[in-house]
Amino acid sequence: MAERIVLLPGDGIGPEVTEQARRVLVAAGRAVGLEFEFTTELIGGCSIDAHGTPLRDEVIAACKQSRAVLLGAVGGPKWDAMPVSVRPEKGLLGIRKALGLFANLRPAAVFPALVNASALRPEIVDGVDMLVVRELTGGIYFGEPRGREGAKGARRAFNTMVYDEHEVARITRVAFEQARIRRRHVTHVHKANVLDTSQLWVEVVDEIAKEYPDVELAHQLVDSCAMLMVQQPKKFDVIVTENLFGDILSDEAAMITGSLGMLPSASLATGGFGLFEPVHGSAPDIAGKDIANPLAAIQSVAMLLETAFTESGGAKAAAAVRKAVTAVLDAGHRTGDLLLPGEKRATVGCKQMGDLVLGALERGKS
Ligand code: NAD
Repeated sequence: MAERIVLLPGDGIGPEVTEQARRVLVAAGRAVGLEFEFTTELIGGCSIDAHGTPLRDEVIAACKQSRAVLLGAVGGPKWDAMPVSVRPEKGLLGIRKALGLFANLRPAAVFPALVNASALRPEIVDGVDMLVVRELTGGIYFGEPRGREGAKGARRAFNTMVYDEHEVARITRVAFEQARIRRRHVTHVHKANVLDTSQLWVEVVDEIAKEYPDVELAHQLVDSCAMLMVQQPKKFDVIVTENLFGDILSDEAAMITGSLGMLPSASLATGGFGLFEPVHGSAPDIAGKDIANPLAAIQSVAMLLETAFTESGGAKAAAAVRKAVTAVLDAGHRTGDLLLPGEKRATVGCKQMGDLVLGALERGKS
């Protein structure tokens, strides 16, 4: 039976990179006996243009009936002047909330061929392969009470960092499950020397860790973690942390790799259901020119395969996708964004990069 996947290409380069990702998903899935049925829906600016709103209930319903959602990107200057409540980004926040996506997974892996793209020295970044698992629906971004009071001279503003035990437990399990398909090491990042919420996190993470005796656990203060990530990034396998720390550390991890067009992500709900998307935005400056780098979207497909189809060959298919991407980069193919300053090399376009990955996938089978 065909597995239902909802495509939300969105705006700007979203449709271009999502199409290449879709082609790779079909080919990699077929190689392990998976067939897909795709439904394409609107989100963001294109939905505002067609329906006057960035996200419709029908789209949420379609996503809920699918096995996984593959998203491109939303937004662009055309909609920048609109009120915040109806901007394209509201569609993204809306779908994350409606689907209960509490776990954000952001891998940062350095491809040997791109080791010079990082702002850090090659010997420091060569071999980096970490995954930041960020709690996405709790903590200080959502805690109540929040607000402002007082007049000028006596103004006050406040937010509340609050976590329930079950919120910590469920994200911790996601991190440990991920560690099991990686190098079996989890670093929990906290500020337990100051924050009560962090003390609860340490307690609950320790309790959940007992369910995973095969995975090693370390606790790390967030300030020293930020330093270690640039000093010895190879030390890390899976990092699990609360919303605010994760927001900052996942961007720090991303920059270690040096290339925005290469970074995939997954946002997961209970039961492993997920939305998969590149980290980059809609890149309106290069939209419609067939020059966008589709490799972040293609690697999001690898995450989709190994997460949503773990039981049916998904891990094998994901490994094949990553191997194909590595082979294409090792062979010297680059989209324009991957060129180093001053580098002279012929570049390939978005579709051509998709073709190259498909070719490498095909060759990898033999
Ligand atoms: P951006 O990620 O779209 O672009 C930043 C720079 O990186 C641009 O120069 C762009 O050309 C380049 N770039 C990004 N992805 C690329 C790719 N795959 N290949 C080649 N080059 C790539 O960020 P921005 O310019 O700050 O935002 C543009 C729009 O995207 C805004 O409307 C913003 O709100 C939106 N946005 C959406 C998301 C999302 O949908 N998840 C995330 C970030 C920004």
